[in-house]
Amino acid sequence: MRILIIGAGVIGLSSAYYLSRAGYDVTVADRHAEVASETSFGNGGQLSYSYVAPLAGPGVVSKLPRWLTQRDSPVRFRPKLSVEQWRWCFEFLSACTRARSELTTQKLLSLSFLSRTLMHELIAAEPSLDFDFVRSGKLVLHRDANAMQSAVDLLAFQRTLGCEQQALSADACVEIEPALAHARSFLAGGIHTPSEDTADCRRFCKGLEAVLRERGVRFLMNTPIDGLKFGAKGVEAICDGAPLAADRIVVASGAGAAQLLKPLGIRVAIYPIKGYSLTFDLQPHITAPHVSITDFARKVVYARLGERLRVGGIADIGGYSLDADPARFATLRKETATLFPEVAQSAASGEWTGLRPATPHGLPIVGPTRYPNLWLNVGHGALGFTLATGSAALLADGLAGSNNRELSSAFVLSH
Ligand SMILES: Cc1cc2nc3c(=O)[nH]c(=O)nc-3n(C[C@H](O)[C@H](O)[C@H](O)COP(=O)(O)OP(=O)(O)OC[C@H]3O[C@@H](n4cnc5c(N)ncnc54)[C@H](O)[C@@H]3O)c2cc1C
Repeated sequence: MRILIIGAGVIGLSSAYYLSRAGYDVTVADRHAEVASETSFGNGGQLSYSYVAPLAGPGVVSKLPRWLTQRDSPVRFRPKLSVEQWRWCFEFLSACTRARSELTTQKLLSLSFLSRTLMHELIAAEPSLDFDFVRSGKLVLHRDANAMQSAVDLLAFQRTLGCEQQALSADACVEIEPALAHARSFLAGGIHTPSEDTADCRRFCKGLEAVLRERGVRFLMNTPIDGLKFGAKGVEAICDGAPLAADRIVVASGAGAAQLLKPLGIRVAIYPIKGYSLTFDLQPHITAPHVSITDFARKVVYARLGERLRVGGIADIGGYSLDADPARFATLRKETATLFPEVAQSAASGEWTGLRPATPHGLPIVGPTRYPNLWLNVGHGALGFTLATGSAALLADGLAGSNNRELSSAFVLSH
């Protein structure tokens, strides 16, 4: 069976991996010349298996006034004359209840734990992959005592779901990550999760592309899919006015998925949330972290990628433009200088913006549509790298008709 995957980001490529392993004849099409040219290019580099709680949580409504007014707040909302945006926001606010958020967290943890197992298996099975993968562990830092106490309270809930985490004093955080010495005085403490990993998503994609090509997967690069159309043989992917050959089509087109699917009458509530990252080149004498770090209050993440430090964050809800606001990069630099002053003085080799393909509730959409030959693997928001292997394996199971992973049903929305 010939399967056409639209999108050569981390989700499309992971899908290609599990589908080709299952024996399908796979082709990946993308509008760019190279794989991972959009959101999978410069993300935060965290494989964040135990921190999957959705942005839509019970504390959000009280924070809205600040988000709407403060220029340097980590989340910013820019209202547009867009039905799509307002509908997404309404659904997002409806999902901001404790019950909804806990249920989503539970489902995402099942998918992230599956993804962790599969990522480790994949690395063992494909020794040629080299993508700065490190079992780094993660520290989530808290700067005030109240936030730290809330995090400690949450540990018990997280533990019931299988997360192994530990609350640490500021001194203990510095013991685990000596590069935090400068920050000791203003830290209230942190939560340590030893089982988290870090890696370079783009290098993962590049390595996977090489593995897939060797396995016979075809790549149609510089191939924009102009639209999806219902024709004699079901849904067809149109490029240059003609359909591409395929028995099944998998849409893995990231933030662009809603626009691609709309003409078929399929509404997926995926809206872009713009994020920013900086990549610092580290000289050997620079004091920089090895453990993956999340600064909880500032919503900034730090991941060591070989001799580079990736700093990512910011959530701007305001349309599909990738234009960068210099003030947002300045915020990331300022935050870096606060925690790791020596790093902030280094040259940043990369300033980057990307669009998180976010669903309002925070769950990806993985599975079939009402068109028998059209499948989806989209909407992974801020966790696409983390959830890529699990989502792709669920998709491959679904296409094979083997629903042996009880998880599948949680991520299949009817379309
Ligand atoms: C600042 C930031 C930090 C992040 N940090 C993390 C992190 O630490 N950990 C984590 O797990 N996740 C993180 N993410 C999220 C993660 O990067 C995304 O969820 C993931 O990259 C989405 O992958 P994707 O394959 O769905 O989309 P993409 O990587 O955008 O790939 C989609 C592909 O589809 C192609 N495409 C779209 N439409 C068409 C068309 N019509 N024709 C042909 N091709 C098409 C595009 O060219 C693109 O290559 C972060 C995101 C941002 C922005």
